[in-house]
Amino acid sequence: MSSVRSALIVGAGVAGPAAALALAKVGIRSTIVESHPGPADGVGAVITLASNGYDVLRTLGVASSVDAEAQRTFEVHMSDAGGQTFARYPSSGFVMARDALSGILADHAARAGSRVEYGRRLVGAEAASDGVVAHFEDGAELATDLVVGADGIHSTVRGIIDPDAPDPVYEGVLGFGGITDAGATSADPGVMNFAFGRRFLGYWRLPDGRICWYAALPRAEETSWRQIEGTPSSSWLARLRAEYAGLYPAEDLLALSTPDDLVTTGPMLRMPPVPHWHGARRRFRSCAVLHLWTRGIAGAGECARARQVSSGPA
Ligand SMILES: Cc1cc2nc3c(=O)[nH]c(=O)nc-3n(C[C@H](O)[C@H](O)[C@H](O)COP(=O)(O)OP(=O)(O)OC[C@H]3O[C@@H](n4cnc5c(N)ncnc54)[C@H](O)[C@@H]3O)c2cc1C
Repeated sequence: MSSVRSALIVGAGVAGPAAALALAKVGIRSTIVESHPGPADGVGAVITLASNGYDVLRTLGVASSVDAEAQRTFEVHMSDAGGQTFARYPSSGFVMARDALSGILADHAARAGSRVEYGRRLVGAEAASDGVVAHFEDGAELATDLVVGADGIHSTVRGIIDPDAPDPVYEGVLGFGGITDAGATSADPGVMNFAFGRRFLGYWRLPDGRICWYAALPRAEETSWRQIEGTPSSSWLARLRAEYAGLYPAEDLLALSTPDDLVTTGPMLRMPPVPHWHGARRRFRSCAVLHLWTRGIAGAGECARARQVSSGPA
């Protein structure tokens, strides 16, 4: 039996509470620290889960709560910019509000004995003889057996484990989305639609008949959140309309959208492969005290499969 009893999980987004639930299943009690002052209620937009992510949620025992909030999709439909279908295939997926998913996971994690400390930012961590000592921005320290990095794509934990790990790479587009009256757009219930052409648009029909869509606006330079928030929504909407002019169904949907409908999801970033390495620290004569960290870039699906990485060389 593992002698790991306590874990510090950094980040209470999606992967953090999912990791806490997974650890609770093997008897490890977690403290989750989150730099934001409280839960991200109302923050973010819609998140899409593939069937493998949903399988993890089922394993963690939260599937019924997720089912109550999520909309299922059963098929993917691909069309060109004129609306002509070129592919249609079965594919199981789930779409739901990101704050709802995060909230469900956090509630279940709390019921499983985890504690979330909001407003606490991890700034450093170092190996100790019997675990890890974590350091927080407020000067506090915490000794724990295990640190799990679930602190998103700009992970601090990743940099602590491997200062040479690559940074996220900007992919040249700024993400937007919205919920709009369908107008002339036809979308079958339960189908995830991808429209390709000069620009890409993803969309699906909501149970009330409106269309939820997401789009990508090309931008040569990575746009900061300060710039994004400092630019009126009406200006972003005008740029999207110009970029998607003549494309089905984006032109119609954007014509029906108002600046208040628009959600910005930020610059699209890709995480390059992170080198994996592991090794038993010499001071741990066996795996009895397992001193492991995980990559801090996992989503809920990936988190349960995250590779274990020790904090020191073999
Ligand atoms: C506020 C927010 C809204 C989002 N909305 C959407 C959305 O609508 N649709 C979508 O597809 N994706 C969204 N994402 C991204 C999506 O959640 C992630 O890409 C994906 O789910 C991976 O989840 P994650 O838990 O690994 O990371 P994230 O969801 O990014 O969560 C990481 C968490 O770690 C916290 N954190 C970071 N550094 C530290 C630190 N040093 N100390 C303590 N805490 C720290 C962050 O505040 C954050 O809450 C959002 C992310 C955030 C942070």
